[in-house]
Amino acid sequence: MQKSACLGYRVPNVSHQRGEYLMSKIVVVGANHAGTAAINTILDNYKGNEVVAFDANSNISFLGCGMALWIGNQISGPDGLFYQTKEQFEAKGATIHMETPVERIDFDAKVVYATGKDGTPYAEPYDKLVLATGSLPIIPRFEGGDLENIQQVKLFQNAAEVVDKLKDPAIKTVAVVGAGYIGVELAEAFQRCGRHTLLVDMAPTCMANNFDPEFSAMMAKNLEDNGIEAHYGEGVDHFEGVDGKVTKLVTDKGSYDVDMVCVCIGFRPNNELVKDSGMELFRNGAILVDRHQQTSIPDVYAVGDCATIFNNGLDGEPGYIALASNAVRSGIVAGHNVCGTALETPGVQGSSGICIFDLKMVSTGLTEAAAGRAGIAVKTTTVTDCQKAPFIEHDNPDTTIKIVYDAKTRAILGAQLASTYDMSGNINMFSLAVEKKVTIDELALLDIFFLPHFNAPYNYMTVAALQAD
Ligand SMILES: Cc1cc2nc3c(=O)[nH]c(=O)nc-3n(C[C@H](O)[C@H](O)[C@H](O)COP(=O)(O)OP(=O)(O)OC[C@H]3O[C@@H](n4cnc5c(N)ncnc54)[C@H](O)[C@@H]3O)c2cc1C
Repeated sequence: MQKSACLGYRVPNVSHQRGEYLMSKIVVVGANHAGTAAINTILDNYKGNEVVAFDANSNISFLGCGMALWIGNQISGPDGLFYQTKEQFEAKGATIHMETPVERIDFDAKVVYATGKDGTPYAEPYDKLVLATGSLPIIPRFEGGDLENIQQVKLFQNAAEVVDKLKDPAIKTVAVVGAGYIGVELAEAFQRCGRHTLLVDMAPTCMANNFDPEFSAMMAKNLEDNGIEAHYGEGVDHFEGVDGKVTKLVTDKGSYDVDMVCVCIGFRPNNELVKDSGMELFRNGAILVDRHQQTSIPDVYAVGDCATIFNNGLDGEPGYIALASNAVRSGIVAGHNVCGTALETPGVQGSSGICIFDLKMVSTGLTEAAAGRAGIAVKTTTVTDCQKAPFIEHDNPDTTIKIVYDAKTRAILGAQLASTYDMSGNINMFSLAVEKKVTIDELALLDIFFLPHFNAPYNYMTVAALQAD
């Protein structure tokens, strides 16, 4: 049996809708997670199309989520961080041009222009175009920002560079700027490889976008308990260096000696190819798509981090949630639509998880803070209880759950869980609950199994729902 399902992407219940399936020439720009999902969907479900893909990079399908595990020596190397190759695509009939950035697209003539590493020019006509150009790290122009050992973290090459530099014992102190989930993961990684690690963020705590303050506080304590020196509420002002290498990080509150800095303050959609095309863009520059992943320009689709996504936490409004999980699903949807199968995305809840020094935290949908920012009146219910039946004496840590629900309709809008026990699978049920607008009262009487090895008879999900106002 195949271990990971990167092939096929069949969607059984849509096959009957394949009415107007036409052979066409489909060009894909960007072949990482979203592009790969689109290409595989086309090749595996619809024979006879001509598929041509361009990618600026030299590798396909790098799982950035494994970067911190590699840097922190929790895996033996990067080989397992890829799940697709150019050769696998070619065996299925696609033409793949690696290290061939697309420079321009003529949307009227329907031609993509690119240049290969060896200077070969390409002018590739298309019937349908899938844009999967992803995202780029946000790098503010700090004074001293171009000093050596100030690292970006996005590509395989970035991670390889960091791993290589860490072989130098002179790199003793590493600062991570940005305490979102990627920054927190990298802080753990540097601490695990014996570096004194600073974590700096303007926000008053870590992971404020994914969790409410009481959950962020649990992670902040966990980081502190494991020796990470956090500086929340501090904005980077500039960097200083000696002999071209960074030696100091200066914030609005202090100055810190450092040997390496990783800047992880977020990502912006890569819209370079379309920003002047008249294509409709979201407020952050992401390509605005409909539920078929179609852009405002006919026959052009956009998927993954370069595009918007429908956010069910905010009643299905278009939003921007850059995750590999979303990239893959949007690629599947586009792959079917470019081949004539009308498949709509159900939208997403932004479900995500993190595991740092054994503390696991997962979330989906809206936090109470995010609901407040969106002006949505919500109520919440929170429970902390032992994970398993109370008589289980070992491996029975506490789990905390918080459910956010609409004050008026009582529909569940989001949930967060934290524990050292792996309760992460629970969040997927809440993801479905948000998508399907399940109410907190329906959850109270939901048939949740009980087995002492796993949970308690009055488990925390039921109790949280039963005690909801
Ligand atoms: C450190 C790290 C950890 C992460 N952890 C997680 C996680 O645990 N879970 C999760 O769900 N997500 C995670 N993510 C986010 C996830 O990696 C992204 O959401 C995902 O990579 C988006 O995939 P994509 O294919 O849309 O875009 P990208 O991965 O950005 O790929 C875009 C591709 O387009 C190519 N391209 C761009 N412009 C051109 C051009 N002009 N011509 C040709 N090619 C072009 C690029 O070379 C690239 O290969 C993490 C990200 C990072 C950086």
